[in-house]
Amino acid sequence: YIRNISDLEKVAVLGHGYGGTVYKVHHKENHSFYALKVRRFKTLEAEILKRVDSPYIVKCHAVFDNGACSESDNNGGGDLSFVMEYMERGSLDDVLREHHRLPEEVISVMANRVLEGLKYLHGMKIVHRDIKPSNLLVNDKGEVKIADFGVSHVVEEEADSNDGTYAYMSPERFDLSRWGGENVDEFAGDVWSLGVVMLECFLGHFPFIDPGQKPDLVTLVCAICFGEKLEMPEEASPEFQSFVKRCLEKDWRKRATVLELLHHPFVNRNCCCSSRGLEDCVLCG
Ligand code: ATP
Ligand code: MG
Repeated sequence: YIRNISDLEKVAVLGHGYGGTVYKVHHKENHSFYALKVRRFKTLEAEILKRVDSPYIVKCHAVFDNGACSESDNNGGGDLSFVMEYMERGSLDDVLREHHRLPEEVISVMANRVLEGLKYLHGMKIVHRDIKPSNLLVNDKGEVKIADFGVSHVVEEEADSNDGTYAYMSPERFDLSRWGGENVDEFAGDVWSLGVVMLECFLGHFPFIDPGQKPDLVTLVCAICFGEKLEMPEEASPEFQSFVKRCLEKDWRKRATVLELLHHPFVNRNCCCSSRGLEDCVLCG
């Protein structure tokens, strides 16, 4: 239990994001490490983090207003500090930088966990809206969890069009922000993003544009909304190809739902983590 933010000692910077900085901190009394995220401005994140409790979502132990750790981020008040479970192996972005591409067995386990997390969130009417490698964190057991609710949205409230990262955004979200659009099923956008991330893990680079190409907005919109159908990598198994295709269905009405994907053969394989048969799983160590 964390009563005072002053009991936490900053050890290192884990990441700088759009909305603030994340520190690795040490709790003097319980001798544990945590991640402390200092937000420069308020979003729905605090409300969402207080409500969620799932093994598939990075746990938030406490939220402090105007945290004492925020000197360096000070903009005259309004900061929030989140004390979160420390994810030792960093983000999937870090894992990809180190391993370049991941084997299907590992992708299958990750997809399963992210889908379980999305099932939980969507069940609470929360749309994540920013599923991407830097927001999927890995602990020292190799478990992947969803993090960063900085642009998340609770459905029921009036639709708005806060930006996530364009690269992982589904075609219908580009439509929403440009033309003030129709009532799309926002949950389907998280499924699209999951498909992009899983394909990126397999290929070792972001799928829609050439590896060296600059991912500016115009290039992305052209490739994602108006580009030709993505070719699936031939060396991928039929199950993986089918899984990704069901996620990357351009028409959100035809796209697979989270529940459908949880029954997909690709995520129901005997994987290294459940069978403990494969020794070389980069996530299980
Ligand atoms: P961005 O705007 O870039 O999405 P953000 O400000 O919303 O970032 P997060 O995505 O929550 O912040 O965190 C930024 C980075 O800090 C992550 O990509 C990850 O590398 C690191 N990080 C965040 N939380 C943790 C954690 N609990 N354990 C370990 N590392 C973390
Ligand atoms: Mg982030």
